[in-house]
Amino acid sequence: MKVGVLALQGDFREHCAMITHLGAEAVEVRLPKHLDGVDALILPGGESTTIGKLMVEYQLVEPLRALIASGSPVWGTCAGLILLSQRTDNAMAGQPLLATMDITTLRNAFGSQRESFGADITIPILGEEAYHAVFIRAPLVSQVGPNVTVLARLNGSESEIIAVQENNIIGTVFHPEVTYDTRFHRYFLQMAEKRVNI
Ligand code: GLN
Repeated sequence: MKVGVLALQGDFREHCAMITHLGAEAVEVRLPKHLDGVDALILPGGESTTIGKLMVEYQLVEPLRALIASGSPVWGTCAGLILLSQRTDNAMAGQPLLATMDITTLRNAFGSQRESFGADITIPILGEEAYHAVFIRAPLVSQVGPNVTVLARLNGSESEIIAVQENNIIGTVFHPEVTYDTRFHRYFLQMAEKRVNI
């Protein structure tokens, strides 16, 4: 199992470490050729404006869109989720997006770096045990299309959507790669294994 991790900016090393720890191969993706043979892809957290500009610079936008359209499992965390969203409530003017997921995101929904926080949440697909989620200048998902499944909400509230799935694409506004809880990465690898074994 080869998992590509977009490695232009942000915390791609933490995702690679988690993937390697779980026994799969992590491939740092900086150029289109690095996507050859990857079974799944992670878009890390960082700064979505910077990652978007670098994606354009390194001609990765269309190859990434093609990989997503082919049905390969793709997971965006935080800035990665903003890049996947079709709409943002407050994107920077001209901010490049992959725009492959039928959601709207609100950037920096909780405020600045100083307002970053951790919270125990429940993610039903990962079991009943509480999940400690880390929010770092996190966005919120402010609107979802009809084919999007909400995987988790903050405080069980109706409005605060923090994890979503649309077919082969998943997104979390928080950062599973900066904790020791491997459940979310295992869920993602299972998605990739199912697809490889079809
Ligand atoms: N606020 C950042 C952005 O808009 C995302 C922060 C993160 O990925 N931790 O891109």
